[in-house]
Amino acid sequence: MYELAIIGGGPAGVAAGVYAARKQLKSIFIAETVGGQSMDSTEIQNWVGTIAISGVDLGTALEKHLRAYAGEFVELHLGERATSVTKEGDVFTITTPKGSYQARSVLVATGGSRRKLDVPGASEFEHKGLTYCASCDGPLFAGQDVAVVGGGNAGFESAAQLLAYCKSVTLVHRQPHFDKADAATVATVKAHPNFTALNEATPTAVTGNKFVNCMTVKNLTTNAETPLAVTGIFVEIGAFPATDFVKDLVTLTPHGTIVTDPKTQRTSVEGVWAAGDCTDGLYHQNNIAAGDAVKALEDIYYWVKSHPTT
Ligand SMILES: Cc1cc2nc3c(=O)[nH]c(=O)nc-3n(C[C@H](O)[C@H](O)[C@H](O)COP(=O)(O)OP(=O)(O)OC[C@H]3O[C@@H](n4cnc5c(N)ncnc54)[C@H](O)[C@@H]3O)c2cc1C
Repeated sequence: MYELAIIGGGPAGVAAGVYAARKQLKSIFIAETVGGQSMDSTEIQNWVGTIAISGVDLGTALEKHLRAYAGEFVELHLGERATSVTKEGDVFTITTPKGSYQARSVLVATGGSRRKLDVPGASEFEHKGLTYCASCDGPLFAGQDVAVVGGGNAGFESAAQLLAYCKSVTLVHRQPHFDKADAATVATVKAHPNFTALNEATPTAVTGNKFVNCMTVKNLTTNAETPLAVTGIFVEIGAFPATDFVKDLVTLTPHGTIVTDPKTQRTSVEGVWAAGDCTDGLYHQNNIAAGDAVKALEDIYYWVKSHPTT
């Protein structure tokens, strides 16, 4: 029986693994891959303490850090995907295709993935002007004309950030109204002189030379297609949290993220914590994921030691 099962190998899971080792909590660490979503990124400039690092190098550094401290306390099960977590009495059973493991507490840190823009040129120009993270890559587009695809909260928050330094921001949204976004944010963004909204419109192609220089936009009422000259495209059309395997265990939001108490990262079920992009935390970043996990580990340690096994 493990004291803790950590599921997920992004910055949240790795931070949890390092803390679990240092706290000498007998843990199992189950992760399909180590590194997380920003492994796709060419350059990460906001991982605190590191001026710039590629996604691949960040993944390598995270794995090295984990292995350096895992020792006898954190048993690594890499390349293994949890398919369910069940609770019987005070014991959790985590099942993977390779086995099943019992633990007294569980930290879910399985992150998620972004919904990709599915139009010609979008995958070709990913990381060459087309990106899925404004707070990560936005500053690289200072002084440029950019577009945001998606009119929900994430789209408007991206637009708000970009307006601070981009020459212009055009937001493209399929619907006639912005009823999926917070009204106050919409009002602030719309009032900015460098902002334009294209409603009932959708991208149909991304083109460029080495880097993006155009996004074709189709007006959904007239079907007319117009080129929009932009050098940056920020896609915010949704994300999929990797929480399906715990949907029968903990309370999820309608978006599938795990409802957590932001003070402790506790979920709706005693003995289960969650951290990072799989949670209902408002902002999703590497530093936040790691910080959430550290918060959870402090609380888990206290909980495990104050609930001795009988
Ligand atoms: C292209 C891109 C660029 C980004 N750039 C930046 C940036 O520059 N700066 C920044 O701060 N943030 C950036 N982000 C956001 C950042 O990557 C995420 O906020 C962060 O990775 C979340 O960490 P996490 O540990 O919660 O989850 P994730 O990074 O999603 O990691 C989840 C891990 O869990 C594993 N996993 C999933 N399901 C299971 C399962 N059932 N069983 C076992 N393992 C499982 C996955 O294999 C993965 O290793 C970027 C995101 C993207 C998509």
